[in-house]
Amino acid sequence: MGIVVQKFGGSSLDGPKKIKNVARRVIECSKAGNQVVTVVSALGDTTDKLIELGTQVAECQSRREMDMLLSTGEQVSIALLAMAIKDMGYEVISLTGAQAGILTDKTHTKAKIIEINPERLSKELDEGKIVITAGFQGITNDNEITTLGRGGSDITAVAISAALRADVCEIFTDVEGVYTTDPRMIPEARKLAVVTYDEMLELASLGAGVLQPRSVEFAKIHNVILHVRSSFNHRDGTIVREDRYMDNNCQMEKDVVVTGVAYDLNTARIGLFDVPDRPGVAHGIFTALSRENINVDMIVQGAMRNGRNDISFTAASEDIEKVLEIMKPLTETIGISKITCDRDVSKVSIVGAGMITNPGVAAAMFEALAEEEINIHMISTSEIKVSCIINKGETERAVASIHKKFNLDKTDQYFLGRIK
Ligand code: ADP
Ligand code: ASP
Ligand code: MG
Repeated sequence: MGIVVQKFGGSSLDGPKKIKNVARRVIECSKAGNQVVTVVSALGDTTDKLIELGTQVAECQSRREMDMLLSTGEQVSIALLAMAIKDMGYEVISLTGAQAGILTDKTHTKAKIIEINPERLSKELDEGKIVITAGFQGITNDNEITTLGRGGSDITAVAISAALRADVCEIFTDVEGVYTTDPRMIPEARKLAVVTYDEMLELASLGAGVLQPRSVEFAKIHNVILHVRSSFNHRDGTIVREDRYMDNNCQMEKDVVVTGVAYDLNTARIGLFDVPDRPGVAHGIFTALSRENINVDMIVQGAMRNGRNDISFTAASEDIEKVLEIMKPLTETIGISKITCDRDVSKVSIVGAGMITNPGVAAAMFEALAEEEINIHMISTSEIKVSCIINKGETERAVASIHKKFNLDKTDQYFLGRIK
């Protein structure tokens, strides 16, 4: 007998038929002799609809009230799933984030879990009940309801798994696992058997929406093994863990060049022209942005001419208004001649633990883009990834071409994903 934490996303809970399907899945796990905690998201696109409603009644959002509103989505799900399970004859209890002991900081709409007090969860499990917990929400130590940011139910599931020392955290979703790229965009994408935490963290941060990046970080820190799989069939999904090789059949790490291709449509590029080339200027610009919690991504500074140079950087699309607002007064004080903003861009990236030891990986990515006559606006690299900013309209073609270039569409070449 083990402890299993399961998480079902909104797409797995869209309507009564799917809720009953989830109920059967949960019961199955319990009947196999496990203690089960199931974490659920809001049904279908409920969270999007609630956000839309909120913006329709008020121009200026109160973050506290937004949390009050958004947390209702998951509360509907826990009650409905618990009702369905009870109706099938099993002992079950639903718990909100607060009842499940999920303590967060006070940052409304983007709260971080500080601590989980698993007493209530353990008590209910020990009484033989299946526990259904609301994902995405928690409570502050002064009893304010908070939410964890979009996709936050993944974080709840991993955090509960860590607190209960669960044997596995199963993430059920509408695809069969983690693929070499988004299978909804590229049908040739292949399901990966195992992905390391580091690779998954990069893929998720670079746009692979199948897991929330912070949940992967949390899983790595607490060594929680994730199994990403489908809610609609029983096939094995993808295991996310520290090491790719745990059996005798082990292949050499160096053989894995590129694990996957990710894309992010939610990015925009800011250009600053004729920035004075003197110490402290970059510090001034990026400190002003970080003070307002703006996460700046790629930064490129061009060659100096006449004591000036150009700087461009990217940030999430939803932060761009705020970036422009912050930059306006700064341009005058610093003496920048022009600011441009391009929202019509996307970021495509390759990720792979074996990239660092394989020269020519970045060049092959650029070749794939060149073959499609796709222009690269910005490039950034790290040990485990290469990212390019391109025109948004060319994203699908870019991902398809890069995916093919690294042979990611060929099952038998997974471990030997050499460049063509
Ligand atoms: P849930 O509602 O279960 O939380 P999400 O929509 O958050 O589901 O995540 C699943 C989606 O992630 C898939 O439908 C798929 O389109 C997208 N996705 C993007 N990149 C990948 C990838 N590399 N592997 C699998 N799915 C991906
Ligand atoms: N319902 C929330 C969202 O849509 C949390 C989640 O689904 O993980 O972002
Ligand atoms: Mg999700």
